[in-house]
Amino acid sequence: MVHTAFITHNDCVKHDMGEFHPESPARLGAINDRLIAGGLMPYLQHVEASPALRQHLERVHSATHVENLFAAAPKRGIVHLDPDTAMNPYTLSAALGAVGAAVLGVDLVMQGKAQNAFCGVRPPGHHAERDRPMGFCFFNTIAAAAAHAIERYGLERVAILDFDVHHGNGTENIFKNEPRVLFCSTFQHPFYPYQGADTVSDHIINIPLRAGTDGSGFREAISTRCIPAFDAFAPQLILISAGFDAHREDPLAHLRLVEADYAWVTQQMMALAQRHCGGALVSTLEGGYNTDALGRSVTEHLRVLAEI
Ligand SMILES: [Zn+2]
Repeated sequence: MVHTAFITHNDCVKHDMGEFHPESPARLGAINDRLIAGGLMPYLQHVEASPALRQHLERVHSATHVENLFAAAPKRGIVHLDPDTAMNPYTLSAALGAVGAAVLGVDLVMQGKAQNAFCGVRPPGHHAERDRPMGFCFFNTIAAAAAHAIERYGLERVAILDFDVHHGNGTENIFKNEPRVLFCSTFQHPFYPYQGADTVSDHIINIPLRAGTDGSGFREAISTRCIPAFDAFAPQLILISAGFDAHREDPLAHLRLVEADYAWVTQQMMALAQRHCGGALVSTLEGGYNTDALGRSVTEHLRVLAEI
């Protein structure tokens, strides 16, 4: 069995929302460069994903949402869906590839072909709601992975940790009435997308963090609120919405995490997965906009996942 699968799709680097947009193709290049420099590549099984199928999307999105995105995809140029979120001719294919990667990650892990998997994909997905794209996101990648685990493998308990600096409003929106999914999101508050702080639900754990929160505050929140809830839930699979924009060097947000905090939280999720589900874990890239810090942080995340 492969230990850690690194899954991507060729078109993820072709999705481009304009020269000055922070969610840029250079993000994946920076990750690639750091993994090479860090000597991690030989330890990862590289896999190219197939595009997601309609059924994968319609488990978590309305048919109207899916049809609207297919219809909006331009043949040339850039089309804006909101001021921050735009499609070029490769966006649809990249978004389908991102979801396809996460679905494949679930397949590899559930079928015992990999211990765990990381999807090095873009666009990100966690802001995409059942009926609308937003915040650089088109299809909700992590939600599609969770729904695939439930539908294809009959899982009854899937836990998602979202440590992106922004609240995973799309994932919450999709699973607000789905008790088979436990969703935990840590996020800067108040901050975009200005949701999540008031949610009351026994399977959604939102942990707002004040601007300036550093690794010790983050670790305390994870230790006291997320880990006990995951242990009580006893997940059969752990998924991570792995955004790295809570890094102190990130230009879009104001938390103060460093690479060691990402290694620590990954270790905690690995230990949870070992306790409850034989180590089954799938992580997928969300945000992270200082490309240098992103490359370093993903490298530490993968170093833990691959147990190097
Ligand atoms: Zn983010």
